[in-house]
Amino acid sequence: MGWHPHLWHPTTQVATAPEPLRVVAAQGSLLQLDDGRQLIDAISSWWVTLHGHGEPSIAAAIASQALQLEQVIFANFSHPLAEQLAEQLASLTGLDRLFFSDNGSTAVEVALKIAWQWWRNRGEPRQQLIAFEGAYHGDTVGAMALGERSLFNSAYESLMFAVARVPWPATWWGDENVEARELAALAVLDRLLETPTAAVIFEPLLQGASGMNLVRPQFLQAVERRVRASGALLIADEVMTGFGRSGSLFACQQAQIQPDLMALSKGLTGGFMPMGVTMASERLYEAFIGLDPTLTFFHGHSFTANPLGCAAALASLELLVQKPDLYGQFEQRHRQHLEPLKDHPRLEKIRNIGSIAAFDLIVDQPGYLQGLGRQLQRQCLAKGVYLRPLGHVVYLLPPLGISEAQLEQCYAAIWQSLAEL
Ligand SMILES: *Cc1c(COP(=O)(O)O)cnc(C)c1O
Repeated sequence: MGWHPHLWHPTTQVATAPEPLRVVAAQGSLLQLDDGRQLIDAISSWWVTLHGHGEPSIAAAIASQALQLEQVIFANFSHPLAEQLAEQLASLTGLDRLFFSDNGSTAVEVALKIAWQWWRNRGEPRQQLIAFEGAYHGDTVGAMALGERSLFNSAYESLMFAVARVPWPATWWGDENVEARELAALAVLDRLLETPTAAVIFEPLLQGASGMNLVRPQFLQAVERRVRASGALLIADEVMTGFGRSGSLFACQQAQIQPDLMALSKGLTGGFMPMGVTMASERLYEAFIGLDPTLTFFHGHSFTANPLGCAAALASLELLVQKPDLYGQFEQRHRQHLEPLKDHPRLEKIRNIGSIAAFDLIVDQPGYLQGLGRQLQRQCLAKGVYLRPLGHVVYLLPPLGISEAQLEQCYAAIWQSLAEL
């Protein structure tokens, strides 16, 4: 196949990466390659494919919307699907205002800009932003600055604004010291909140990109209490956890926290269309209304409220609302396969929430450049299962519609590959 002379792939080092596989079709959890092979897409194509590839009701909704109204400028105009989606997401998230953008990074950027300007519009600007160690909020410059400093963004160090950091007290099966780590993290947060803070941003229950790191709901509740007491705004980045991934429709519901702003994307359209939304409370919205033009939220993307994206999102939501067991029962499906792995000598720190399961390979030097994860990836690929370990962290994040036989095949491939490492 080879590298295409005119394409540039994301986060890919051409000098060392294997050449890309060519996909010609996809159905359910299966990717169809041009050489005739089929692969199970065990990571939902970078966490976006929610129900399955080619989900008929979503495909049909997009097709019929394309013939009705494919796009219209969203300043000066509105349209029925945007209104329906806003009404539904407002009632599901408890946040009354919906602002559209194009992806997870822009949904986060919008949340950040709303939070920042809200303080300014009230005439009491606040300068400090707080995020967590290991955070990932996207690749555009503002979202990137909120994320942990790492190999991925060191080239842009001087472009990024300062963000205060709180430890992320990740936990796993059989973890005995989590409370001490939580208390230490809360002590750091307490100290930081002595400085007037505009906003605190976090990934509810699960940090994805940094390695599928889970925290307990009680930790987030303690964070919320402190943030509320300080007056700072709370931004939940549910780009990855939203729409059933975490076992509930939104991870914030499961953790019983109510943020002021919520960023959503990935599963929003069932993985069919690139779209992001930022949900905001009415209290924030009100501070942007007035005769002074500087109160305006001057932000807008060309494809704001794209009707095809709205159609896909409404069709996907309907599936979720009709069949809550699809996401509500997934944790049990993983659990039966994870239990036998508990005593495996090559791995540790098993964790599991909703349709996401993860463990760490035991290695001398953990990190993203860890070779063992890539070795496991190659071996699973040869067995028809596509994984993409985060360094030494191996995880499964399949479409909700994956069959039991396919899920079993994923775990069987992992077992066999572990034996071959
Ligand atoms: C993927 C992700 C983003 C960025 O979303 P993009 O659509 O890739 O821009 C932001 N936050 C979290 C938590 C994510 O997992």
